[in-house]
Amino acid sequence: MNTEAGGAEGRFLYTADVLLHEMIHQWQQEVTGQTEESYHGHGTKFRDKANEIGAKLGLPLVRAKHERDNRVLCQYWPHEVRPEDFDRGAFVTTSRDGTDKPKGFFVPEDLDEAIPVLREHFDVEELCRRLGEVQPHQRW
Ligand SMILES: [Zn+2]
Repeated sequence: MNTEAGGAEGRFLYTADVLLHEMIHQWQQEVTGQTEESYHGHGTKFRDKANEIGAKLGLPLVRAKHERDNRVLCQYWPHEVRPEDFDRGAFVTTSRDGTDKPKGFFVPEDLDEAIPVLREHFDVEELCRRLGEVQPHQRW
């Protein structure tokens, strides 16, 4: 969020959109029990609910991560599909063009140096769980 832009109204609209997004996750947790952890919560169930609500708000359709088309990823819903001036500039876009640009970081080859980098970017418990699922001979 750009705290210098948008004024109180823009920041309110931005924050309301964050709440709207998180309410779908809460609905997944409390109502459906389908939290789509393998998609970090942004799978087809999240996509469908976002698109259902988005249709009522006049927003374009979004897609789940494994889908390959020009729709915006549902993890960025609704901010990325709002008109650019919706929150008066309070939101700083990450991928307005709808492409799935990798947001990467450098992981050193040395394991002792790589671990702090991985800890910074991933939930340690999830990382350990996921690594535990990998077989030594498995290729990604
Ligand atoms: Zn989310």
